[in-house]
Amino acid sequence: MDSRIEERRGQSIKEIFASCGQAAFRRWEKEEAARCGIEQGAVIATGGGVVLDAGNVQALKANGYLVFLDRLPKAIMDNSSITERPLLAAGQESLAQLALERRPLYLATADEVLPVAANFKDSLNPLLALAQGATCRGFAVIGDPIGHSLSPLLHRAVFKALNIDIPYNALRIPQGYLKEFIRGVRGGVLQGFTVTIPHKREILPFLDEVRGGAALCGAVNTVMRDKGRLIGYNTDMEGLLLALKRQGYSYAGQNVLILGAGGAAAGVAYKAGASGARVTVLARRAGQAAALSPNFGELNSENLSRESPKADILINATPLGMKDFGADFPDLSFLANLPAGALVCDLVYNPAATSLLKEAARLGLAVMNGMEMLIWQAILAEQIFVGLDKFDFAYEIMQKAISK
Ligand code: NAP
Repeated sequence: MDSRIEERRGQSIKEIFASCGQAAFRRWEKEEAARCGIEQGAVIATGGGVVLDAGNVQALKANGYLVFLDRLPKAIMDNSSITERPLLAAGQESLAQLALERRPLYLATADEVLPVAANFKDSLNPLLALAQGATCRGFAVIGDPIGHSLSPLLHRAVFKALNIDIPYNALRIPQGYLKEFIRGVRGGVLQGFTVTIPHKREILPFLDEVRGGAALCGAVNTVMRDKGRLIGYNTDMEGLLLALKRQGYSYAGQNVLILGAGGAAAGVAYKAGASGARVTVLARRAGQAAALSPNFGELNSENLSRESPKADILINATPLGMKDFGADFPDLSFLANLPAGALVCDLVYNPAATSLLKEAARLGLAVMNGMEMLIWQAILAEQIFVGLDKFDFAYEIMQKAISK
């Protein structure tokens, strides 16, 4: 706001104070607050004195969300540009005095108070999550890491082919910041979003309703706004089933060995079990695996070697081997124990050939990466988002988009 006042007046704040006085500055600040108050999809930083006028607060709050970054005076003074402020000419003492007068006002008017720790950048994470939720338009995918995600490419391609002019963004929301993101979404204009690692399970308590298989398996990968309410769905489980079916596989009567017990594994384990498979889950935290199947264990070499000979379908639902994840299977010797006709399925799709799939193929086993599942869960998400019903058409468009 101060930069805008400076631009409009052609003078720095310091010059405005010196030549016109504080009263004139406050008048112009009031005009600026009224202009900012009617903006949409913007993050606005205000001067510290803006709260002194109840009209300013009313204008900014009418259409916005006020966040107070609560920082110790000493840390504020360490920012060299702050000492340029006219009211801080006397240094730390004047700042302490201002803080004494204004902090109660900040606390009383803010919708959210963010304590700012020594690491200023990290302290801004909640604010970034909130701002992304509040300002993003159309649809989006949220997760962390998110750089590898092909979801925007797939959804944008179908929107374009259907002449739907709606953006699809990728938002990096780190673990632990869903609360702020959802708060932003509730006050913003996002119509819906898909959810990837690591939020599929953690998101449930923040939603107004969770439908169908998502409620049964406790994992959500698609959220749609419906008359202001956020509704969660799971299209992962059906997506993998469709992908398997198109390759000639089904779950009925099969031994399915799932590695990992996170959001994706929850949906896959539920669907496989409900479709007549005998499901075993191995995860690095055995307790997590126990929640998905009565046949469970810790993900270690011994259990992998013991369970592999019984598996008709092995599904990797961990991020091991995924681009930018930074970790891979330390030992793939268990693959040699799988029966000759077994299928090795990796939910990871980037890279297309993970070390798990390369080794399985080298051993002559059937392999499938996560790309087909990605496409089908995206098609089912679009059914929820925009009522898509031309599945084969969307499949072709998405296939083309990926192969470009
Ligand atoms: P998630 O909820 O974070 O779960 C990840 C699971 O992997 C958890 O059980 C986690 O164990 C385990 N894990 C993480 N790092 C590990 C490591 N270093 N060693 C052993 N286990 C580890 O993630 P998600 O959403 O289920 O996604 C899992 C993978 O599936 C991701 O690569 C994702 O991209 C992929 N995926 C693909 C599709 C598709 O359409 N192709 C759809 C969904 C998911 P802890 O709980 O102990 O951390």
